[in-house]
Amino acid sequence: MQRSPDFLGTPIEYLKGVGPQRGQLLRTELGLDTIGDLLRYYPFRYIDRSKFYSIADLADDMPYIQLRGRLSNITVSGQKRATRLNAWLTDETGRIELVWFQGVRWLKESLKPNTEYIIFGRPTLFNGKFNIVHPEMETSAEWNAQLGPALQGVYSTTEKCRQKGLDSKGIYRLQKNLHDQFTSAFPETLPSNLIASLHLESLGESLKQVHFPKDEKSLAAARNRLKFDELFFLQLRLLRAKSGRQSASKGKPITRIGEYFNSFYHSHLPFGLTNAQKRVLKEIRGDMGSGKQMNRLLQGDVGSGKTVVALLSMLMVMDNGYQACLMAPTEILARQHFQSISELLAETDIKVGVLTGSTKAAQRRFLLEELQQGRLQIIIGTHALIEDRVQFASLGLVVIDEQHRFGVEQRARLWKKDEEVPHVLVMTATPIPRTLAMTAYGDLDTSIIDELPPGRKAIQTVHRTEANRLSVFGFIRKEIALGRQVYIVYPLIEESEKLDYMNLMQGYDSICREFPLPEYRVGVLHGKMKPEEKDVEMKRFKEGQTQIMVATTVIEVGVNVPNASVMIIESAERFGLSQLHQLRGRVGRGAEQSYCILMTGDKLGNDSRIRIKTMCETNDGFLIAETDLKLRGPGDIAGTMQSGVLDFKIADLARDGKILDQAREAATKIIDRDPGLILSEHQPMAIHIAALEQVNTNYSRIS
Ligand code: ADP
Ligand code: MG
Repeated sequence: MQRSPDFLGTPIEYLKGVGPQRGQLLRTELGLDTIGDLLRYYPFRYIDRSKFYSIADLADDMPYIQLRGRLSNITVSGQKRATRLNAWLTDETGRIELVWFQGVRWLKESLKPNTEYIIFGRPTLFNGKFNIVHPEMETSAEWNAQLGPALQGVYSTTEKCRQKGLDSKGIYRLQKNLHDQFTSAFPETLPSNLIASLHLESLGESLKQVHFPKDEKSLAAARNRLKFDELFFLQLRLLRAKSGRQSASKGKPITRIGEYFNSFYHSHLPFGLTNAQKRVLKEIRGDMGSGKQMNRLLQGDVGSGKTVVALLSMLMVMDNGYQACLMAPTEILARQHFQSISELLAETDIKVGVLTGSTKAAQRRFLLEELQQGRLQIIIGTHALIEDRVQFASLGLVVIDEQHRFGVEQRARLWKKDEEVPHVLVMTATPIPRTLAMTAYGDLDTSIIDELPPGRKAIQTVHRTEANRLSVFGFIRKEIALGRQVYIVYPLIEESEKLDYMNLMQGYDSICREFPLPEYRVGVLHGKMKPEEKDVEMKRFKEGQTQIMVATTVIEVGVNVPNASVMIIESAERFGLSQLHQLRGRVGRGAEQSYCILMTGDKLGNDSRIRIKTMCETNDGFLIAETDLKLRGPGDIAGTMQSGVLDFKIADLARDGKILDQAREAATKIIDRDPGLILSEHQPMAIHIAALEQVNTNYSRIS
């Protein structure tokens, strides 16, 4: 059959061996709609079919392995809803138990005792013995009949699929059918000079080798090409969106530095800027004066001084007759920004307002009116700012703090506030690994504040367990006697919210008993409190009326109390790395030596141990972010940012940094030369992107 590009869009049921029933399963269970989807459904690992393990050689922490042995003692046990099937597999060296919890009846019928089987699976230790749960099986005869390649792909699948014969092998057979049915070459999508200069494998060969690898070397070449494809086309789309946006909008011209900026900078700024802050301000000024709209991501570790950079940028746009707004993800943060910016601007005549969900109607009406008339120059707030009723006289700059909590659409809605798109500065205190920044924010320019204000002492971080509790309390007393304040943070996650809440309140009670009135005053802060109550508690802590603040992660981002010098994190093993780092950033903001104490249970899993160790060893947010990426994978991290953008099929941001660099460089060259992808040699790429964008997010709206 002739293969045209269209065949990739053919519904999956038309593939030989699928049909309506399995088609439905593939669609709902694995998200495979078309033949093209199946083609791009790559194995997640490979089994070397030439390699067999002996049962006696099984060890802890083994990957998926292949065994050969005789099947015996097939028994069904358990009750109706919890039946299971056990069997033994015996080779010359020993015996291992195989266990199934699902498909028991069907397996009981089909497994043949006293027959030699080849099985794939992962040995796990149970009651001191190894067993394999839900292995994949083939009789030796079946196995021998397949003259397949030595390396066999393993596809992920689901229980429902397995019951209809769509286990990994079943999917492998469909891939075979796909490749048999459509025999001619897949159309190449990359320009030939790019393929040549990067020594890439062709697309057709790569798609074949990834499913049916000849050997390790061809597999590596195929995977490299497919990873490159995935990263390259994303970069191309991001850069094209960026270039399109820049040519569509000139941006508000910020051409001069005037009275607002100068008088603040010279007369009111209470400290000198760090070199990093100066450099970033120059970059921002360069952008806003360039005749193009700014879209810049500002990364800076906690406490690096992003707020003042944002403020100075706002003053720049005000000098050119525009207003500015600053959006924060939470009420507490918005109010805190409002407070610190109002303090900084106290001696100027600049008008600043704050608008959040809890702003009273009358005040809201007043603020909206002032904004629309242009009398209010800076507005600070939460999501409430995105509401359509909020209209500006002329909005010049939007600053978004801790932006990963704002979705793409929310950012897009801000554009609609004005004909001409405002400049956008996105600030994040969660350092993002380079590879992640290049993809999740690939259409933004990036600035980094990589220097802390002078005089900060590195926070000392230690790990303690319940056995150390008394000495930890002793330490708290000592610090409080020195006039310092203490945070004690409890985990609170949605899934176990009730229990966590109970722990928090119990913790609060026991702290109150341990640190009784009148000598000590303890505050509490959690998400269930009303905004006014939170404000009161925060204010009391800020003003030093309470010495200990027991809280959940509501204090995670941005809260600033320089006199607090001790951060105690309870059940620290339950927090992710970036969250631990964020929490730790709440101390060490003043001149005093600060401490972070990570309290955990006695037994820690492997990942938690790495997390705690990393925290104790470094204060470097970027290093922590890289470790986090390796532990969690980009999907999880991205989950809090932009879903969809980072769902890679084969690329891995924790490992493929080099390929990403190549992809970015290649994409940049192409977009610089041909931003609209209209040259004839770029047509295959344009067509491929169009196909990708039919199914995916429209990247032109991301900014
Ligand atoms: P973050 O980057 O975490 O938002 P902030 O902007 O809240 O950091 O700044 C942290 C603290 O450091 C604030 O109290 C701020 O006033 C202070 N600060 C910022 N820049 C400097 C500087 N150049 N010198 C001294 N202190 C600074
Ligand atoms: Mg901040």
